[in-house]
Amino acid sequence: MRAAVDNFSILLARRMKAAVDDDITNAFKHGVTSAYTELRGTENKVEIDTADKELVRSLQGEPHFSRSYNNYQDGLRESLQRTISIGIADGQSISQIVSEMGKSANLQTYKLVRLARTEINNIYNEGRLRGYLKGEKELKRQFKYRLIVMQDRRTCRAHLELASRIPGNGLILGDLIQLQQEIGNRHGLSLKGHSLLHPNQRTVLVRA
Ligand SMILES: [Zn+2]
Repeated sequence: MRAAVDNFSILLARRMKAAVDDDITNAFKHGVTSAYTELRGTENKVEIDTADKELVRSLQGEPHFSRSYNNYQDGLRESLQRTISIGIADGQSISQIVSEMGKSANLQTYKLVRLARTEINNIYNEGRLRGYLKGEKELKRQFKYRLIVMQDRRTCRAHLELASRIPGNGLILGDLIQLQQEIGNRHGLSLKGHSLLHPNQRTVLVRA
């Protein structure tokens, strides 16, 4: 029974990883297309090139993602085993135990999905930045952008500083990236891709 629960947990964690990887790819592509279309004002298809694909792969491989799959797998295994032990000790029927197992699995999955959702929003942003870069390159002109930074008690110092230093009329992309690099470095954060300072950040890239 223990081995069966182990195998089941591994299988489910693998399936979830594949599903989230697909979501990441789609969110990124959607971000690229939406920003590109915004600049170009056409529905012309934008190309997803090798550099884009590499960026997607690196985003999928982020350590905090692998940590969450491992936590998911471990949490699932433990809670299923606990559910079975308690069920047997209480003399529950097989169908009662199975129904409790389903509830445990749903709860663990919900936690993983909630985390993935925040990250996928960030990856959408990353795609938008790439889409703007592609659009500018083809139009051979630059525009100004700013970040909408969600500000509340959970906002880190780096993002507070970022919010205060972006002028109202925005910055060109190169300067915006450089500013994030400078602030990020000072706060011990590295810029992932070109717009992600850290996991779980809540910013939106928009044209000024
Ligand atoms: Zn932050």
